[in-house]
Amino acid sequence: MNFISTRGGEKVTGAQAIVKGLSEGGGLYVPEVFPKVSVSEMNDMLDMSYPERAALVLGKYLDDYDKDGLLKACEAAYAKFDGDPAPLLRLDDQVYILELWHGPTCAFKDMALTLLPYLLRKGCDICGIKEEILVLVATSGDTGKAALEGFRDAEGVKIMVFYPSEGVSKMQKMQMCTQEGGNVNVVAVKGNFDDCQTAVKEIFSSPEDNAILKEKGILLSSANSINFGRLAPQIAYYFSAYLDLVTSRQIEMGEGVDFCVPTGNFGNILAAYYAKQMGLPIRRLHCASNKNNILTDFLKTGVYDTNREFYRTTSPSMDILVSSNLERLIFEISGRDAKLTAERMTSLKKTGRYEITPSELAAIQQTFDGGYATEDACVEAMYDIFMDVGYTMDTHTGCAMKVALDWFEKNKKDETNMVIVSTANPYKFPQDVLYAVTGNDVKDSFKGIKRLHAATAMEVPKNLMSLRDKPVRFTRVASKKDLFKEVLAFVDGEV
Ligand SMILES: *Cc1c(COP(=O)(O)O)cnc(C)c1O
Repeated sequence: MNFISTRGGEKVTGAQAIVKGLSEGGGLYVPEVFPKVSVSEMNDMLDMSYPERAALVLGKYLDDYDKDGLLKACEAAYAKFDGDPAPLLRLDDQVYILELWHGPTCAFKDMALTLLPYLLRKGCDICGIKEEILVLVATSGDTGKAALEGFRDAEGVKIMVFYPSEGVSKMQKMQMCTQEGGNVNVVAVKGNFDDCQTAVKEIFSSPEDNAILKEKGILLSSANSINFGRLAPQIAYYFSAYLDLVTSRQIEMGEGVDFCVPTGNFGNILAAYYAKQMGLPIRRLHCASNKNNILTDFLKTGVYDTNREFYRTTSPSMDILVSSNLERLIFEISGRDAKLTAERMTSLKKTGRYEITPSELAAIQQTFDGGYATEDACVEAMYDIFMDVGYTMDTHTGCAMKVALDWFEKNKKDETNMVIVSTANPYKFPQDVLYAVTGNDVKDSFKGIKRLHAATAMEVPKNLMSLRDKPVRFTRVASKKDLFKEVLAFVDGEV
């Protein structure tokens, strides 16, 4: 299977798409065609383990990787999880929760980032690349930690993470700044996530910066959600959740199911759309945002306009105005018109906005709708569900819960099953979750963990509790124009 760029002019293999991350013209790699999973394959998958299901889905796209290697890599990656990597829980008659946070860093990013190091290293082998790989990551909080953990001490790879100094939770910051490993570096960037992401993208697309690194024997790669190697493992859990609904006799094979996804960079929900394109019977996709509701507006009006205020919320991984992966949906919906997609992305860069046509909007609305939760509404939804059924969720999942509840409020007769995608362990945001379920406010994260445990009796993940005693290794703060200097200081061994 080959991959093409959303902005045209390139055709690469799966291994190349993963190693390069972003295409030369700035576009994102997409499969040349969507591979299909037939009903009989789906029936075969019913009896498979999670790693087997994931390997099957990955193999459909990455046919240049050997199947046995993929399966072994999936088995190794998901063995790092605490039990089932993607358990499905029933909340109510037609409402389910898909928990994707049982991995090493307690957020759904682990679903892909435990596997990406294999996909990247193997990809380098397939492409005959001898250079050292430098993985650069811009993070809104959870990707950074999951990537650091995934790549720590990986051979032939260095990893450098940039996070917005004013945009991650205390726990997220602690997770990153105490990271162990000999090949890792973490730098705070003055500004918000969009500043951070834009500055990192500029390094990737700068021929000068790339040439300087090449001379040093270094090749850049990305672990951000624009990398196809991040997207592909995420497609698998939509299949898996669906198959679990079938095996537990909640639905018949072929019946439509809705998913409601807390969305930031549009990676998670795009994976659901890819699953649908592959033949998974998904009816609707509900795109849930927080107060930064640019996607809600876009899905209603067809206008994507970043000229608006940026808010910091209690769901920081969704505090994003430029959702990079949306480009892949725009590309599909335009009838795969690379020229038009490139024009729209240029317009986004120059004017901060672009617009799709009414017929394109109608096509998107056939599958997608958008909703959002204000800070209060998110707290309310978390509180209500905790009181009603005793289920505790994190703040990002709280936004999705609010959007799902609104949908059922407006569509009382709708009997389609809805799966709400839960993206973080509540203990990753202990103070905010504690406040939502008990009304108590505490200043200290670990006190928050203790009280949340007292209130919910949920098990506390060891990896979060042990942070308290870990030494802080990384304290550098840089302005966004200096990021490449930071990169050079790292590769030259000066920091
Ligand atoms: C990253 C993240 C999101 C947003 O996912 P996207 O793929 O960026 O849309 C939502 N919730 C949590 C907890 C996350 O870490």
